[in-house]
Amino acid sequence: MLDAERRAVCAHLSDLAALTPGTSGNLSVRRGDRFAVTPTGVPYDDIEAADVPVLTLDGEQVAGDADPSSETAMHRGIYRERDAGAVAHTHSPWATTLAVLGEPVPPVHYALAHAGGRVPVADYATYGTADLAANVVATLTEADVSACLVANHGVVATGEDAAAAVETARAVETTARLYCQAATIGDPRELPESELAAVAAKFDAYGQDE
Ligand code: 13P
Ligand code: ZN
Repeated sequence: MLDAERRAVCAHLSDLAALTPGTSGNLSVRRGDRFAVTPTGVPYDDIEAADVPVLTLDGEQVAGDADPSSETAMHRGIYRERDAGAVAHTHSPWATTLAVLGEPVPPVHYALAHAGGRVPVADYATYGTADLAANVVATLTEADVSACLVANHGVVATGEDAAAAVETARAVETTARLYCQAATIGDPRELPESELAAVAAKFDAYGQDE
């Protein structure tokens, strides 16, 4: 069940591991009203496709023996309310630095077009709770962006597939790092939202023709 989506989760775990410490973070990929999500608390190197739990959008586990991510409610909530094919969650250190300060990631580099613009901060709630899921969904929806920070916790990034969600999480981390570094030397300059929109359109054609 959802074999391609379970393999897609596994194929992107080394990228996720490069962004987030230990077993923090999680990744899911959706097809229709089901999604494959990383098991909770398992080192990324040890996860195989057959272990990856599959859940319905109602939260019922329908495949995989391992227990699903503690943030399953957040992944479900995003799929129910937003147009996303994959969700990546990290505790990547530079973006989480801003999340600790309660500061959004400003659009100081064009890579932030992956997120749809300035990355807002969702209110803190205990990890794994329905309150945290609701705060994240409300923040993504209100700003109509594909990524947000979670206060005193980390990053949530969405995309049409696992590669896009992980790429957005990486762009948030890189831009947060550049902003923090630049702010120690001077006054970082923001790009206008209109430029980020132009870059987002250009990203559609980025790379080699298929
Ligand atoms: P899981 O290992 O349960 O996915 O949790 C990690 C995490 O980041 C919780 O917020
Ligand atoms: Zn977390």
